[in-house]
Amino acid sequence: MSVISKETQRLLATGSTLRDMFEEGKRLAKQYGRENIYDFSLGNPNTPVPEELNDAIRQVLDEYDSLTLHGYMSNPGFEDTRQAIADNLNERFGTNFAGKNICMTVGAANAIVIALKILLDPGDEVAVFAPFFLEYRNYISNFCGVTTVVPPNPPTFMPDMDALRNTITEKTKAIIINTPNNPTGVVYDEQTIRNIAAVLEECQEKYGHPIFLISDEPYRELIYDGLEYPFLTKYYANTMICYSFSKCLSIPGERIGYLLVPDEAAESQDILASTANAIRAVGCVNAPSLQQKAIMKVLNARSDTHIYDRNRQLLVSILHEAGFEVANPQGAFYVFVKTPVPDDKEFVSYAKDNYRIIISSGAAFDCPGYIRMAYCVEYAMIEKAKDSIIKLGKDYGLN
Ligand code: PLP
Repeated sequence: MSVISKETQRLLATGSTLRDMFEEGKRLAKQYGRENIYDFSLGNPNTPVPEELNDAIRQVLDEYDSLTLHGYMSNPGFEDTRQAIADNLNERFGTNFAGKNICMTVGAANAIVIALKILLDPGDEVAVFAPFFLEYRNYISNFCGVTTVVPPNPPTFMPDMDALRNTITEKTKAIIINTPNNPTGVVYDEQTIRNIAAVLEECQEKYGHPIFLISDEPYRELIYDGLEYPFLTKYYANTMICYSFSKCLSIPGERIGYLLVPDEAAESQDILASTANAIRAVGCVNAPSLQQKAIMKVLNARSDTHIYDRNRQLLVSILHEAGFEVANPQGAFYVFVKTPVPDDKEFVSYAKDNYRIIISSGAAFDCPGYIRMAYCVEYAMIEKAKDSIIKLGKDYGLN
């Protein structure tokens, strides 16, 4: 009998398809040379970190006594950082938050885990829209919660309200939405947000208890075509925002984000008080202190999203020329492509073995029949991949 828990054994057996493809890309790069493979597998930001942030980090090191800077703090984070974020949101979105509405976290991942730690009893359900970031399943099962899946809604991948209504049961404690979306790149418009809020209000009424809207927003600032993404607390009171600076500042390794709970949410003050226990209970204690002090100085700084936008336009035009059907990507740095055969894993292997194109299977997002391409890559690589992508489409009779 193994000492490893059954849940961890299950994770070991299923592995991470995304990480496996990333490792495969590295192996092929060694074998054929990096310039001869087209690796679209991983969502690792590749636009430069804004110089203001590097300056801010240097300033922070000079400004603070090092024991104070690097020491323990209140679990939800430095008060001045939380207040600066609240002020910045209020200025940008006309909201009315205070520092106390925010708990600094170890990225968006930790913010979601803290939210679930606070909300879930064993057996409680959390609904997610397929395709979705598969880590959600792990986050939910940490607390013996049950993931329920709203089926995908191709070709737009906008949430379908009847499907949402049918997925919510009396056991549903929360739903998670993620827009701009990984893996589709789709951005929900304001009407869609209003519709989701209306369904949740209706289900709260029906089942007689709050249902939280957990909004996973690491890609909030990566939006194209002049779109704007509204601030969700304005539409639905029982909202928890899980934000991250990983993508907008190109610093995923630094692990900094926050959880925001508005005063209007049910039991908001108890939830906010619980963040201190929750962040300790999941073993993080507090968000990285140096980063808290640095990001508060540069809350309007952004990595150059034009670089992603340019990549997006080129890749989508190549995919169209090759004959592929693509969901309209208006945010994040992913495109979701329908595979010409039902077995997306077979298609992923074919693209890798014949053209050294490394892509992720849709099955890794609970949506077989599709693949994801991450375009946070060199523009020149996309240009170079063009002929291979066109030939790949031709092999399947698409052009
Ligand atoms: N949610 C989604 C949809 C993501 O794609 C990611 C990271 O890629 C995360 C959450 C985790 O974000 P962070 O690394 O900031 O914790």
